[in-house]
Parts: sequence; structure tokens; C-alpha cells
Amino acid sequence: MQVSWKLLYYSRMPELPEVETVVRELRPKLKQKKIKAVRVLMGKMVAMGPGTLSNLRQTHDGITYTFASTLRGQTITDVQRRAKMMIIDLAGKYAILVHLKMTGQLIFFGKKELDKQIRLFNIKTSPLVHLPTKSTHVIFEFTDGSKLFYNDFRQFGYLKLVTDRELPRVPELQNYGPEPLATNFTIDKFVAILDKRPKAKLKQFLMDPNLVAGIGNIYSDEILYYAKVKPMRLVKSLTKSEKNRIFKGIRKILTDAVNHCGSSVGDFVRPSGDWGTYGLIHKVYGRAGEKCKICGSIIKSMKFNGRTGSFCPRCQH
Ligand SMILES: [Zn+2]
Repeated sequence: MQVSWKLLYYSRMPELPEVETVVRELRPKLKQKKIKAVRVLMGKMVAMGPGTLSNLRQTHDGITYTFASTLRGQTITDVQRRAKMMIIDLAGKYAILVHLKMTGQLIFFGKKELDKQIRLFNIKTSPLVHLPTKSTHVIFEFTDGSKLFYNDFRQFGYLKLVTDRELPRVPELQNYGPEPLATNFTIDKFVAILDKRPKAKLKQFLMDPNLVAGIGNIYSDEILYYAKVKPMRLVKSLTKSEKNRIFKGIRKILTDAVNHCGSSVGDFVRPSGDWGTYGLIHKVYGRAGEKCKICGSIIKSMKFNGRTGSFCPRCQH
């Protein structure tokens, strides 16, 4: 498939609602599936052991072979999420970690759906394609004839096979902030985290995975619009009621986005091949230059460490 600059422009990292959507949709489909074979079409997308990304990419044929042969005959028992990492549990002593990074996609087709055509990019001009495509790098074949395809157009994502004992040592699963949708994430915990970074700008605070897990560019914009505070404000300038509104906003915006199956901006696609619809109701993200849906002011944008934040200059203070 010919790739235009537009697709590069639209690529952006899935955040908590998108990864949660993939996990929720894959869990019932993959549970109790037995792996018949794994085809690794691009070696650098898979790894064995808990190592870091830099040594993970130093792959060779032996790793590809071991990855596929270890998985053959294994049964999937669950699909979970920690921050933006997916964990596919196996009945034996192994688990598969999947990180979608920028453009990773997991698509599941039952035996009767294998000739289905889907669009891999949420752009009207994107062609309908059959899987596998050139950006399909790993294929799981199950004993009932169904298949799971891992696509990754920019090839930053990966699948790591680790043992249950190695799991706690995986670098990406350490030092994450709390899960914002977990019931034990309370306003008191949130305020304690705010107190750690008094000089941080709110946009950067929300996007730091070590402080709160899973929030990126889209949802930080939408949370701050909901809370009616500007993204460049410093944490230490917040009033008590603003802190409360940001906390409520984190829960509300992320929950709404999960209920809409995420935001398909560019290349996020659900395991069914369908799109997430939260992007249709974004209030500020990607809307710089357009009118605020509440007050009619023109939405503004500014750069934060190279990322663009959008906000309403009138509704947000
Ligand atoms: Zn406004």
C-alpha cells in the first residue's frame, strides 16, 4: 500500500482508552484459544525475556524461532492491561506482553471472517484491504481456525514473551503511576501526586506516566477542558476546587472514551476492524482554529515539549 505523508501526520500513540478497548474486546475472543502456530514475518517485532527495548531490537533468527515454537500448543487464559501494556496470559508459565507504541494494531478474525476487508486507517481515502498486509508482522493461528494479526506500520511496537517469574522485572511494567480508573485511585491519592510536582505545567503533569498511568496528548487536552483550567498553568497554582475538577475529569473523560471504544485518530482500529467513536466528540484536541462548542471562541494551541496542547482561551482559566 502506498503510504502518504498524511498517514505519518495522523499517527499518534494509543492511550489508556484505546488499549483498554483492545483488551476488553480481545479478552472474550482469546480466552481458552489454543495456539496452533505463530508466524513471525518480521523478526524485530518479537523478543524473549524481560529486556529493554534497545536489546530487544537486536534480534536474530534464533529468537524468532524460539518465540514461535514456545507458543505452539499453548492456551490463552486471560488478556489484561497495565498502563498501556497488554498482557496475554498463557496456561503454562509464560505471558505475552504487547505494546502497540505508535501504530500497533491487533485484529482478530474468526474462521468465517478471514476474507473480511477492513480499512487500516480512519481516513476516507484509505483502501479496503485483506489481512495480512505488508504491515502485518506477526500472525497467531488458533486451533479453531481463527487468527490474530499484529500490524504495525511504523514498527515501533513489540511482542515480548516472558515467564511468570520474569514478569515483575520487565522494565516497562515498573515505576508506573496509579491506574486512574481503579477504585483505589482516590482524590487524596491524586492530591498527594500533585504535591510531588508543584512546578509542573498541568499538560505535562497529566502526560507523565510515572505520575498517573495511561494519559497522553488527547485525553490530557480533554480532561483540562472539562476541568476548565488552562494546560500551561502550574500545579502549585491550583485551587482546591480545580484539583477536584481535574480528578473528576480524569475519571469522567477516560470512562466516556472507553465507552466510545477510544478515539480513532488516524490508525487506531479495534480488534473487530471497526473504529472508536470518541474522536467525533473531542472538545479541544485537534480542533485548534475551530470554534469552542460551548462559548464560540477560537480554540488555541501551544507546544509543550514538542507536543501540541489545545484549549479554549475563554472556558479554561
Ligand atoms: Zn469555550
